[in-house]
Amino acid sequence: MGLLPTDKFATKAIHAGSHIDVHGSVIEPISLSTTFKQSAPAQPLGEYEYSRSQNPNRKNLEDAIASLENANYGLAFSSGSATTAVVLQSLPQGSHAVSIGDVYGGTHRYFTKVANAHGVETTFTNNLIEELPSLVKENTKLVWIETPTNPTLKITDIELVAKTAKSINKDILIVVDNTFLSPYLSNPLNFGADIVVHSATKYINGHSDVVLGVLATNDKALYERLQFLQNAVGAIPSPFDSWLVHRGVKTLHLRVRQASLSAQKIAEFLSSSEHVSAVNYPGLPSHENYDVVKKQHREALGGGMISFRIKGGAEAASKFSSSTRLFTLAESLGGIESLLEVPAVMTHGGIPKEQREASGVYDDLIRLSIGIEDSDDLLDDIKQAFSTASN
Ligand SMILES: *Cc1c(COP(=O)(O)O)cnc(C)c1O
Repeated sequence: MGLLPTDKFATKAIHAGSHIDVHGSVIEPISLSTTFKQSAPAQPLGEYEYSRSQNPNRKNLEDAIASLENANYGLAFSSGSATTAVVLQSLPQGSHAVSIGDVYGGTHRYFTKVANAHGVETTFTNNLIEELPSLVKENTKLVWIETPTNPTLKITDIELVAKTAKSINKDILIVVDNTFLSPYLSNPLNFGADIVVHSATKYINGHSDVVLGVLATNDKALYERLQFLQNAVGAIPSPFDSWLVHRGVKTLHLRVRQASLSAQKIAEFLSSSEHVSAVNYPGLPSHENYDVVKKQHREALGGGMISFRIKGGAEAASKFSSSTRLFTLAESLGGIESLLEVPAVMTHGGIPKEQREASGVYDDLIRLSIGIEDSDDLLDDIKQAFSTASN
């Protein structure tokens, strides 16, 4: 019994990487053993020797992620940040990378404060599509994309970036951080990316109770290099965390679909609200890259993240975000529970105001992570918070 190539996402989410053990357990047990018996020197009984190198629960999760990203190979790490670190560690000294400007803060920090110390230099651009040809240098080895971006939800055409980069130098790697969509809404490898990375802390685990990262690729040599680093660096997830995330994966399609449908409804409401001056949501036909959304996202779904500018400035943003009943004021995203935050003073508080505003992060911007509560209850909560904030 195994998966067929024609099996669809939901079937793969439930069955990929899942095995029945010797006892017939329908859900595989958590394998805590750090070491595995060998029958003779250098002859392990099974596939495993030592749990940093590989562990049954991590292997199951890696297989599931590979399947959902239409990839041959998956790797799991102790966090999304560790995943980023290992990808960038794989670059030779003296390399150059090009990254979208409003990349995740931790990724920006790694590029500018860690990778540079290892001789990897990065150029950031807020206009990747137009500027890429002039930014690629002799030593450019990698292009880093995040789509949608955080928190203004700008969309990048992965296929166009991959074609442009590869026409200059076919060896340039295209890396896509797909955290905000999850593999259910988009599969970057289908559009020419070489590596897709995720903070599984967000949608893939989806229950706000594990920090973990994953990547997937179809390139065997690249996989072997990254797997070597996974073991050499040792930033691996525990068996328990791997097991929990694999459990989260099994409902990914249900959670992300519901969050996305609710977000659509809420974004449409916000667009017509007298309290709102602007809405960023990829599922709205008015989004500036809606044509790319239609190509790159399943059923043109916009995902579970919305940001909007509230009328009344920072004060209104603060009042609104302290007045919700169901939305919890907290950083992070992608869980079953709805969250909200004010990026200018929370997740993006460290960025100078001018630079922040250049990418659309104004003091009155509120970011919503839509959970899977009843969508009418969420909508009522937003309406209620608007009236409290405007009083
Ligand atoms: C959270 C996040 C990360 C970092 O992941 P951790 O699991 O927190 O280390 C990277 N990229 C994006 C887009 C994220 O949202």
